[in-house]
Amino acid sequence: MDAITKDLTVAQAEAVQHIDGPLLIIAGPGSGKTRVVTHRIAHMLQSGIRPWQIAALTFTNKAADEMRSRVDLLAPNQPVWMGTFHRFCAQQLRRYAPMVGLAENYSIYDSSDSKSAMKRAIAAAGVSTSHTSPEQITSAISNAKNRLITPEIMAQQTGRAGDTVAAKVYPVYQQQLLTANAVDFDDLLFHFARLLRENPEVRSNLDEKLKYIMVDEYQDTNLAQYAIVRALSVDHPNLAVTGDPDQSVYGWRGADLNNILDFEKDYPSVKTVRLEQNYRSTPEILRVADQLIRHNRRRKQKKLFTDNPTGEAVTLRQYESGYKEADGIADEIDNQMIAGNAEPRDFAIMCRMNALTRSIEHALRNRGIPYQIVNGLEFYQRKEIKDLLAYLHLINNPRHDVALHRVINTPTRGIGAKTLERIQRFADDHRIPMLEATRRVDEIDSLSKRAKTLVTSFVRLYDRLAVKATATLEDMLRFLIEEIKFVAYLERTTPEQQDNNPIANVDEFISAAVEFDQMHPEDGSLEAFLEQVALVSDTDAFEDSNNRVTLMTMHAAKGLEFPRVFIIAVEDNLLPHRRSKEDETQLEEERRLLFVGVTRAEQWLQISYAKLRSFRGENQPAIPSMFLGELPRDEMQVVEVKGSRNFFDDAYDDEYPDSWDLVQEPAAVTDTGPAGQTEVADGPRIIPMTDQSAIPDVYHDDVPPPKKKKPKVS
Ligand code: ATP
Ligand code: MG
Repeated sequence: MDAITKDLTVAQAEAVQHIDGPLLIIAGPGSGKTRVVTHRIAHMLQSGIRPWQIAALTFTNKAADEMRSRVDLLAPNQPVWMGTFHRFCAQQLRRYAPMVGLAENYSIYDSSDSKSAMKRAIAAAGVSTSHTSPEQITSAISNAKNRLITPEIMAQQTGRAGDTVAAKVYPVYQQQLLTANAVDFDDLLFHFARLLRENPEVRSNLDEKLKYIMVDEYQDTNLAQYAIVRALSVDHPNLAVTGDPDQSVYGWRGADLNNILDFEKDYPSVKTVRLEQNYRSTPEILRVADQLIRHNRRRKQKKLFTDNPTGEAVTLRQYESGYKEADGIADEIDNQMIAGNAEPRDFAIMCRMNALTRSIEHALRNRGIPYQIVNGLEFYQRKEIKDLLAYLHLINNPRHDVALHRVINTPTRGIGAKTLERIQRFADDHRIPMLEATRRVDEIDSLSKRAKTLVTSFVRLYDRLAVKATATLEDMLRFLIEEIKFVAYLERTTPEQQDNNPIANVDEFISAAVEFDQMHPEDGSLEAFLEQVALVSDTDAFEDSNNRVTLMTMHAAKGLEFPRVFIIAVEDNLLPHRRSKEDETQLEEERRLLFVGVTRAEQWLQISYAKLRSFRGENQPAIPSMFLGELPRDEMQVVEVKGSRNFFDDAYDDEYPDSWDLVQEPAAVTDTGPAGQTEVADGPRIIPMTDQSAIPDVYHDDVPPPKKKKPKVS
C-alpha cells in the first residue's frame, strides 16, 4: 500500500488503481466518490501518465477548485486539466472556432445577454407570442440544444404550438448569434459536440491527446455532455465517471439520468465499483436521508451505512412565520457558538430559492453573525459592472451586438431609440454587425444630420478605446472609465444607497482586473478575462477560508459538506416547487434535491417550515411539504408551534384542499432550478459506441433517425 491508497477503503483503492478501460463509480452521498477522483489523478501521475493526458470535468468552478487543491496535496503543481464542462468546451472552441462558424475571439453571452438576443430574434422571426411566452421559447430552444437538436431537426418535429413557434425562432436566433460572433451557454456544449461529430480528425486527435477523462457527478450530464465525453473516449475508452442517481437535480437543464443508469450498457467492458460506507454524516442524518429517498420509485435501491458515532437526533421544527424562522435560526446559531462547540463556518443554511434567504440575512446581521451568500453571479449582474463589461466585450469582439446596444447611449449621448432602430434595420438588411452599421451611418438616409454626428462621435470613441485592446486589463479599464467619464455619470444617475454603492463596485471591478493581470502575467488577455467572468457560476463566491455562515441553494450545495445544516422553508409549492407537482418525474427530482440538502450535513441537521410565509410583502398561510410526511418522525426531534394543529393528520388534506391556489408564486426570485421548465427526454436509448460511425446516434434520440444522411447544421 502506498501513500496514496493508504487512507482509502478497499473498494476505493480498487477504483483508484483501475486506470485503463471504462470505470463507473456509483455510490451514495459522502461515500468518497470525489475523494476517489482526486486520489486516482494522483495515482495516475505517479504511474507515469503525463498530466496533460488527463482531464477531470466538474459542474461548478468551486468543485474544480476543491479538486485542484485536494490533488495538489497529493501531487503538487501538475498541469492536469480540471474545470467545468462549459469551461472545457469554451477553451476547445477557441482553437476550433472557425470550424463551427465562429471567430476565435467569440463572446459568451450571459443569461441577460441571451435574453436580449432572444427578444430581438423573436421580433425578427415575426412570430406571434400570444400562445407562448418568450421564456417558453427560450426554454424550448435551450432544451433542444441540450439534446443536440439542430434548428433543421427541430423544424421537422411536430409538437405543441409553443414548440412550433420556438422552432421558427431557433434558426433566426442562431443566425444572429453567429453574426455577432457569440454563443450562449448551451452553445458551448452544442457547438463542441457537433464539432466532434462532424470532424473525425479533430475528434480522434483529441481522443488521442486526452487519454484519461474523468467526470464527477455524472448523473447531472445532459445529452450534449454525454456525447462529448463519449466522443473523446472511443479509441481510448478510459472514461471514469462517478455518480449518484439519487442526486440528479438538473433535469431542468436537460440532465438525463439514463446517462448513468445505462453506462454499463454503453460500455460493456466497464468495471463498476460500488462504495457503501458513508464517511460524512451521523447515522441519524443518514437514516432521515434514506427514508426520504425511498419514496422515489424510479431508482435503484442502494446500501449505505456508516461507522460514524451516533449524534443528535435530526430536528424537524415548525415556526409561526418565516420571520420567526429566521430569528429562531440566528438564535440557534448564536447559542451553539456560545456553547463553544461551533464557529460560523460550521453552519450552512439551505433553501430552494435564493429569495428565501432575505429574512435570514437580516436576522444574522442584527446579531452580528458573519455570513456569505453563495451567488457569484450577483456582482457581475450589477448595472454599472454590466455597462463596463459591455464596453470590454465590444472591444474584444466588435460584432457583439448586445454589447453595442448597451453602450451606445451609456453614458447618455443623445442617441435615441429611433436612431438605434434605424441602424438596426440597416444592419439586418445588410447582414452586418451593428458596429459596422454605425460606421456607415452616412448611408442611412432616414437618420437626421444630428443623429449621424452623434453616432459618428461614438464610433470615434470606440476606436480610441479599441487601441487599448492589448494593454493590461487595469490600464484598459482605467482608460475606459476616464474616457467615458463614468464616475461622473454614476454620481449623476445612481444615488448611493445603503446596500449598494456603484462607485465602490467599480473600484472592486478594477481590483478584480488588477488581480487577473497579476495572475496571468504571460497569457492574460481581455478574451480570457471575459471568458472567466462569463463562466462564473453560483458557487464561486463561496470561500472556505472565510469564517462565515453560508447561505445557499441546495443546487449550489451539491458536492459540499458542512458540520451543521439548516434547511428552511420546506413547504408545499416551494419544495416541491409549484411547477413540479403535477409531474411524477419532476416531483422525484424535487425529492432528490431535498435529499442532496440533507446529505450535506455532517453532525447536526434541522429541517424547518413555517405556518405563514411572506410573498410580495404579504403573509400567506403555508402548508408543510409532503416530503416532511415521509421522514422518520418517531426518530426525530419534532418541535411544533404550541396550539397548532398537526399538519400530518390525514384529515388535513381534505379540509384544505386547494388553499394553495390562493397563494401567488413568489415574484422575481432567483430560482436556481425552475422545475417544470424542461422535460427530460425519456426516449429510446443509445446503442454502445464502438466506432466512429456510431457517434451520430447520440445526437437526436427523439428524432426520426436520418439513418445515412447526416442532419445538416445551421
Ligand atoms: P457526494 O455524493 O456528496 O459528492 P462523495 O461521495 O463525493 O459525496 P466525498 O466528498 O469524496 O464523498 O467524501 C465525503 C467525506 O468523507 C469527505 O470529507 C472525505 O474526505 C471523507 N472520506 C471519504 N472516504 C474516506 C476514507 N476512506 N477515510 C476517511 N475519510 C473519508
Ligand atoms: Mg462528491
